[in-house]
Amino acid sequence: AGQKVVVVGGGTGGATVAKYLRRLDNTLDVTLIEKNPVYTTCYMSNEVLTGERTLESLQFNYDGLKVHGVKIVQDEVTGIDYDGKQVLTKSGTRYPYERCVVSPGIDFKYDAIAGYSEAAITAIPHAWKAGSQTLVLRDQLHAMTDGGTVVIAAPPNPYRCPPAPYERASQIAHYLKQHKPNSKVIILDPKESFTKQALFEQAWRELYGYGTDNALLEWWSGDVAAGVVEVDVASRTVITQFGDRVQGAVLNVIPPQKAGKLAFDADLVDGTGWCPVNKLTFESNRHANVHVIGDACMADSLPKSGFAANSEAKVCAAAIHALLNGLEVESPSFSNGCYSLVGKDYAISVVGVYRLSDDGRLVENIPGSGGVSSATATAQDRLFDASYAYSWYNNFTQDVFK
Ligand code: FAD
Repeated sequence: AGQKVVVVGGGTGGATVAKYLRRLDNTLDVTLIEKNPVYTTCYMSNEVLTGERTLESLQFNYDGLKVHGVKIVQDEVTGIDYDGKQVLTKSGTRYPYERCVVSPGIDFKYDAIAGYSEAAITAIPHAWKAGSQTLVLRDQLHAMTDGGTVVIAAPPNPYRCPPAPYERASQIAHYLKQHKPNSKVIILDPKESFTKQALFEQAWRELYGYGTDNALLEWWSGDVAAGVVEVDVASRTVITQFGDRVQGAVLNVIPPQKAGKLAFDADLVDGTGWCPVNKLTFESNRHANVHVIGDACMADSLPKSGFAANSEAKVCAAAIHALLNGLEVESPSFSNGCYSLVGKDYAISVVGVYRLSDDGRLVENIPGSGGVSSATATAQDRLFDASYAYSWYNNFTQDVFK
């Protein structure tokens, strides 16, 4: 039998690494353990909020990976026996491995916001893991009467998908403009700047009256709002670090984040709340033969995005293939790209290309590579970016799940 690799988590990182391990070597015995039968992508989930896309259109099962010869197990992983080199599951079955890859995504620091908790998310959703939470937020938005305020509490760095809170605010403003024009969306931010900021603000000025008395969208920067530190669920009020109280008809509180629970249960996390890894192989710095990829790991300049998780997964698959065969691991490069749909026929984008630093310890930007959409782009260019966003989604999900 082939050498055994067990992959934990069938999200963006896990599905990609399982597929690419088999593509590199179809004698490998690759088992993917995922707790859910179907994966719902967070990417494009902001379009579900406006009603322009269904949740079902974001869902993928694991039949595509089976065609590549990946063994799919539906179970929850509870820990890893490092001495015995076995992955432990809730059902009691143990899965032996030569190499293991963990891609459990994120979890939330609920206790960083007084009054907020996992129990509160049915009333005040975070909608930062796509699925039922996305529908709670969508339904609240659609039930809101015209004239209401939607409040988005943006998280501090580092968090999953840096542009996504601002894309979400844009999508909600787009919905309000059409259906509830006397309403507005306010972003309360602990940060004083954010990715693609100039392009977002330009779009908001062009589309949503940003900066005027009748703005559909307001961004309260960290120096004036300092982020949400408390939530009063009963009165739907958030309280900022400066003591400002903002009541919303709809509250979307996105808490500070940390690596997914399994990373803690398996002792893969350090004091930062994230998993330190060797950037050449993504092998954990804490436990040998176990690799951590995706949002849960610390990858320096690479953002916590699906695109980056996919890029890390391919690097990790190639490294595992080399390690299992006694070959030299080649120094990798990585890429990231992200489209944000900010309005009808209007998207902006960012791309980056990365490599290891000379000492091999850090993932760094390659100088002169990458960039963002032009500030002087035409309406036609923005429309092109929107169409590229949709084709990226189709190509990317094909690469991950098919
Ligand atoms: P995930 O994709 O979350 O996968 C983790 C998987 O592990 C899940 O399926 C989970 O069920 C499983 N799991 C966890 N614990 C266990 C366990 N103990 N046992 C078994 N299974 C387990 N990225 C982009 O590149 N482009 C975008 O446009 C974009 N838009 C976004 C918009 C929003 C609103 C949000 C919230 C995110 C967006 N992202 C985007 C980010 C992207 O979704 C994540 O970065 C990506 O999903 C990370 O992949 P991952 O494998 O680390 O985690």
